[in-house]
Amino acid sequence: MIDNQDIERLKSRIRIEDVISKMGFSLTRKGTRHYCLCPFHEDHNPSLIIDTKKNTFYCPVCHTGGDAIRFVMKVEGKSYVEALRYIAGIYGMELRETSSDLSAEQKRQQDFKEMIRTQREAIVSIAHEHLFEEGNEAHAYLRSRGFSDDTLRLFHVGHFPQLSACGRHQEALQKSYDAKQIQGRIVFPWYSASNALVGLAGRVVDVRTKGVQLKYVNSSEKSGFVKGLNLFGINLATRAMARERKVFVVEGYTDAMAMHQSGIENVVAQCGTAMTDAQASILARYADEVVLCLDNDSAGIRAMDMAALKLLPLGVRVEILLAPDGCDPADLLHSNGEDAVLRWSQTDTHSLLDICLDRFRQASVLNPYHRRAALSKLISYLSLIKDSILRNMYIEKCVDVCPWLKAEELGM
Ligand SMILES: [Zn+2]
Repeated sequence: MIDNQDIERLKSRIRIEDVISKMGFSLTRKGTRHYCLCPFHEDHNPSLIIDTKKNTFYCPVCHTGGDAIRFVMKVEGKSYVEALRYIAGIYGMELRETSSDLSAEQKRQQDFKEMIRTQREAIVSIAHEHLFEEGNEAHAYLRSRGFSDDTLRLFHVGHFPQLSACGRHQEALQKSYDAKQIQGRIVFPWYSASNALVGLAGRVVDVRTKGVQLKYVNSSEKSGFVKGLNLFGINLATRAMARERKVFVVEGYTDAMAMHQSGIENVVAQCGTAMTDAQASILARYADEVVLCLDNDSAGIRAMDMAALKLLPLGVRVEILLAPDGCDPADLLHSNGEDAVLRWSQTDTHSLLDICLDRFRQASVLNPYHRRAALSKLISYLSLIKDSILRNMYIEKCVDVCPWLKAEELGM
């Protein structure tokens, strides 16, 4: 059980409009009321009413209503206690457990989580301080790649020293898996949308360093960090995503940082994972349009297929922005500066479905087996489009491109 005083303290701070907008819904204000799209029924005109006086929400269409806690429970599928913790995260508050109510196992788990959290926070702060020490090699490297100190501070980037140099923290961190792994590496902390520190990644400063096996290491899943449930940079992107209803998805940590530094705030990075259901649903909550920034190679195409599979069924428009000739946004920042990154982000994107249609057009001159495979893929993409009008428009386009196709075959 959470300490009662803490619950009361939290409840007195909750403003329902803060919570709902922090969750990615865009609100329009009329007097003491706000309106947004109702997440509990298929809503096309904002019908959910948020009453800021009563601190409640109500949808006159599907008759769902309640307070902010209930809203979080229903949208996020959380229990009452989990919803309280989620909201506490939004307000940066900590909720203590009344320890007498916990079973020995629960107490052990809670202590473990608390220990991991404290260790990680210590690592981030030691690493961040170390990065800015006179003559730090990682700092010199990052600066040479074009990153400003403001960007490094914004993302809490650090350089974790050897454990033996951790002073008063050395003993506490001796048992930390994160600390052992991350020694001598550049540290990129991962935060949740509500700004809780959820995991760490460590990159070697110099890839030529002898004896280093892996360029990147991460906090372990055993310690509660699952990359596929998170998106790097989401804590810094939520406001711009909700405002523009659009998000750029880039490949790496430094790509997200390069975009931010160039003035594009609605950006997150996947950092080497194929898109998961959890990531897709986070993105769909904040944005109607996802721009995938991909390399124009087979890995890029695989990533695109995976993202399409996860995003199209959620009604999200998927656009593709091809990487600037043979480099990525971080390289572009390095070679041509912020303006070049900004200009690139504003270039025309290609709709995922158009790209798919193009691939189909190319395949259709090939032998029947290739044609058949391309047709299957096209049908599977089309079947993912929820909006039937849009789907029909694409079917017409397909028939235009390949007159031998029959609309009924594509219409499923
Ligand atoms: Zn509703």
